[in-house]
Amino acid sequence: MKKVSLVIPMYYEEEVAEECYKRLIGVLGTIKENYDYEIVFVNDGSKDKTLSILEGIAKNDKNVKVVSFSRNFGHQAAVTCGLKYATGDAIVIMDADLQDPPELIPDMLKYWEEGNDVIYGKRKTREGESFFKLFTAKTFYSVLNGLSDVEIPKDTGDFRLVDKQVVDVINSLPERNKFLRGLFSWVGFNQYAYEYERKERFAGETKYPLKKMLKLASDGIINFSAKPLKFIGTLAIISFLASFFILVFAIISFCMKLDNMAPGWASIMVTMTFLSGVILSSLYIVGEYISRIFDNIKARPEYIVERTINVD
Ligand code: UDP
Ligand code: MG
Repeated sequence: MKKVSLVIPMYYEEEVAEECYKRLIGVLGTIKENYDYEIVFVNDGSKDKTLSILEGIAKNDKNVKVVSFSRNFGHQAAVTCGLKYATGDAIVIMDADLQDPPELIPDMLKYWEEGNDVIYGKRKTREGESFFKLFTAKTFYSVLNGLSDVEIPKDTGDFRLVDKQVVDVINSLPERNKFLRGLFSWVGFNQYAYEYERKERFAGETKYPLKKMLKLASDGIINFSAKPLKFIGTLAIISFLASFFILVFAIISFCMKLDNMAPGWASIMVTMTFLSGVILSSLYIVGEYISRIFDNIKARPEYIVERTINVD
């Protein structure tokens, strides 16, 4: 029988842990004729009752695995870890707070059975989220897509059902600070946008304060784009152009004996803008090297094979 794994990170989720498990078991009960299941809870260093609740659950249900971190390493690290421990044929990543309804899993499995490898949740609506969150999320995805070479779908979080083959690829990537939703898009394979309505958090409050959101956003941009580095090159060109135009302006004024400049203005300005250009272009060159080094230490493979025929 095929097995479905659920990977669920938890950070201070004592208010939702029990309910989360109950809802999951309810859903898994409806598909138990066709699928075995496994739930991987990752406790991301919560110091409240989350871990003891999870321990209680795991005691009574051998299909529940619990992995607990020594401290808080962050949502992406927790999911990354959960993926390593998941052994299912299809792996579902979801939040603990039930914003991503577990009741959708059977339907997502149908799309998986039809041959899709990544069925990612695309939010049609988002209940109970602040204007600030919606606005920053929208801005972030436009900026990210403008900068990145990989198309990263908008209105998409980490909620998704993924085939084991794709998870194996993600697990094999040595890069750190993984921006998972970007990588799941980068790997390719058959992707399916599964539209759903994102619910309100079941209880408690968000564990994603602005600081963590900014860290996630910068991981997303920096891991998927070298354009911020290349931007230095544009600044260098602007500086050289400014220097050139000021020089031309000064020469013309001098020749036409226009007495329109304080003495020394032109020489200082030309020198300053020219030197800025020199410094910025040096930075740009250093940046080019850094971006190559960066590509190498990320060590993403140069290609991913999806299928082979008659090859052992
Ligand atoms: N989470 C985590 N580590 C963190 C922050 C969050 O494991 O440092 C988990 C959290 O328990 C939840 C999921 O990540 O299961 C999403 O967090 P949350 O619902 O607070 O984020 P939001 O939905 O507000 O963006
Ligand atoms: Mg949430």
